[in-house]
Amino acid sequence: RVKEDGRDGIAFFEQSMQTVASERLAIESELRKAFGTDQFRLYYQPQVIYGSQKILGAEALLRWHHPRRGVIAPATFIDVLEQSSLIFDAGRWILNKACQCIAGLLADQLIDPETFCLSVNISPRQFRHSTFVDDVMGAIHQHAIPTRCLSLEITEGIVIENISDTIDKMNELRSHGVHFSIDDFGTGYSSLSYLKRLPVDLLKIDQSFVRDSTNNVNDAEIIRAIIAIASSLHMDLIAEGVETREQLNFLHAQGCNQFQGYLFSPPIDEHSFRTLLLTGGFEQQH
Ligand code: C2E
Ligand code: MG
Ligand code: MG
Ligand code: MG
Repeated sequence: RVKEDGRDGIAFFEQSMQTVASERLAIESELRKAFGTDQFRLYYQPQVIYGSQKILGAEALLRWHHPRRGVIAPATFIDVLEQSSLIFDAGRWILNKACQCIAGLLADQLIDPETFCLSVNISPRQFRHSTFVDDVMGAIHQHAIPTRCLSLEITEGIVIENISDTIDKMNELRSHGVHFSIDDFGTGYSSLSYLKRLPVDLLKIDQSFVRDSTNNVNDAEIIRAIIAIASSLHMDLIAEGVETREQLNFLHAQGCNQFQGYLFSPPIDEHSFRTLLLTGGFEQQH
């Protein structure tokens, strides 16, 4: 709490800044070690089609298995990773691991190469790096997977920073068959004229809109607007963060048919994801 004379306020501010800074340093040095010692994992969150509940794909999400602190979600460390040069190696590791997973699922005939798509989150600095296109194609070739099985999730922020470079890179990867989606759609500042020029296949409705869609008229309206945009730009649509049957039914009534969220499954480790695919996915619930 900031005291009234201001001086303590400044002291407090400086002290907490220092705490934050030293915490970042601690996390960064632990992250560096973590990479050498196999502490990172990709988890997989299934994406399903309404009705049949068929698994059409998954999103790969990073987890840190810390020897003392247990499993850590990205909120704690992704900013530190992105702001250090570690993001470049981490980004390549993630792409590589995702392609290795796809190759394994294909080899065991757990997925259909014509329809299944694994999506990977791409950080802005990773995307802008000069080796990005080669990193993606390198991972695809190393594991000899069909290019169409990989989808890259980018955010509106990536697009805005350098529109022509972004479009060039996307077009190059797109020409090889890589898919793109816009993550957290509606939370950034991308204009519709940019969106129209992007080679994007899929919009992901951000979970913040989904969360309150059934009890907040504004969020419900935003969802209707996003669905209208996707349809007029001929893009596919998926809702993320679907937790309740009520949200699912609302979204479906508005015209959304693909879903990702705790209602179906949280992100799970590769072994559990394989088991889920092997046992045929989710029960038809209606
Ligand atoms: P995101 O890409 O928007 O991922 C969706 C987040 O929502 C994930 O959090 C997921 O676990 C969570 N989620 C899924 N279903 C539900 C639900 O029904 N309810 C709620 N409340 N949450 C749900 P997670 O795994 O903690 O990741 C957070 C963010 O960290 C991601 O947001 C993404 O921006 C970033 N991230 C995760 N993995 C990677 C990665 O491999 N590379 C990069 N660059 N960023 C990553
Ligand atoms: Mg994502
Ligand atoms: Mg998202
Ligand atoms: Mg996010």
